[in-house]
Amino acid sequence: ISSMAQSKFEYVRKFESDDRCLPNCWMVVRLDGKGFHKLSSEHDYDKPNDSRALALMTKSAVRVMEEFNEICLAYGQSDEYSFVFKKDSELYNRRKTKIETNICSLFSSSFVYYWSNFFPQTYLKYPPSFDGRVVLYPTNQNLRDYLSWRQADCHINNLYNTAFWALVQQGGYSPSKAEERLRGTVASDKNEILFSEFGINYNNLPELYRKGTILLRRKVEQEHEKNVVGQNGMVETQRYTKRRMTILPLNVDIIGDKFWEENNDILGS
Ligand code: ATP
Ligand code: ATP
Ligand code: MG
Ligand code: MG
Ligand code: MG
Ligand code: MG
Repeated sequence: ISSMAQSKFEYVRKFESDDRCLPNCWMVVRLDGKGFHKLSSEHDYDKPNDSRALALMTKSAVRVMEEFNEICLAYGQSDEYSFVFKKDSELYNRRKTKIETNICSLFSSSFVYYWSNFFPQTYLKYPPSFDGRVVLYPTNQNLRDYLSWRQADCHINNLYNTAFWALVQQGGYSPSKAEERLRGTVASDKNEILFSEFGINYNNLPELYRKGTILLRRKVEQEHEKNVVGQNGMVETQRYTKRRMTILPLNVDIIGDKFWEENNDILGS
C-alpha cells in the first residue's frame, strides 16, 4: 500500500472529536467497579467490609499514582476510587477519553495483577471491570465539595451496611426482614440499633471503614545503613536518613477544614 493511498484514507481521522478538558480546572477521574455487589458475594468478601478488598483497591490506586505523577490526591471507598489531577496538568493535552481510559485500564489490570497477593485462597472467577469518568471542577470549593460528597457517601453506606449485616449475621434476620427493619430509619436510629441490640459503638469501628482512604504524596524519612572504611582501616556501619517521596494512605476526615489546613499544598497545586 502506497503512502499516497494511506493519505487518501487518512481523512477519517477528522471524524474524531476534540475532547480536551477546559484548562485551569481540577480534573477528577472516578472509577467504580461494575457489578461489585455480585463480585463481592461470588468471591466471599467479608460483610459489611472486606479489608483485603479495600487493600487491593488501594494497591491498584497506588500503582496508578506511581505511573501518573500529576495526580496529587486520590480518595477511595467501597468499589470506587477518585483521582485528582493538579489543575495545570497537561497529561495527553488534557484529552478526556485518553485520560479516563488509561487510568481505568491500568487500575483494572492492576486489580487483577495483584488479586492473588490479597486473596491467596480465592480464585478469581471472571475478569472484573470498572467504569470511569472525568469530571471538571473549576473552583477549590467545588473540588472540596466533591470529595466531601464521596466521603459522606462512604459514611452513609457504611452505617447502613453495618446495621444491615448486624441484623443478618447476629440478629438472625433474613436479608429482606433486615431491609424492612431499616427502611425509613435515620442515622441515629441505626446507631441506636447497633448499640442497644448488638453492643456495637459505630464510632469505634475502624476509620478505614468509616472514612475511606486518602492517598497523598509525602516525603518520609527512611533509615539506611552503609559500610564505610573508618580511619583505623576497619569497616564500620554508618546509619543515615534519606527523605524519599512516597504515597501515603490516610483514613481521616476530609470534610472539615483541618485536613486542608494541614495539607495546604494540595489546593495550591
Ligand atoms: P454498579 O455496576 O452499578 O456500580 P455495583 O454492584 O458495583 O453496581 P455499587 O453501588 O458500586 O454497586 O456498590 C458496590 C458494592 O460492592 C457494595 O454495595 C458492596 O456490596 C460491594 N463491595 C465493594 N467493596 C466491598 C468491600 N470491601 N467489602 C464488602 N463489600 C464490598
Ligand atoms: P502509545 O502509548 O503512544 O500507544 P506505543 O509504544 O504503544 O505508544 P504504538 O504506536 O501504539 O506505540 O505502537 C505499538 C507498538 O507495539 C508497535 O510499534 C510495536 O513495536 C509493538 N507491538 C504491538 N503489537 C506487536 C506484535 N504483535 N508484535 C510485535 N510488536 C508489537
Ligand atoms: Mg453504582
Ligand atoms: Mg460498582
Ligand atoms: Mg460503588
Ligand atoms: Mg500503543
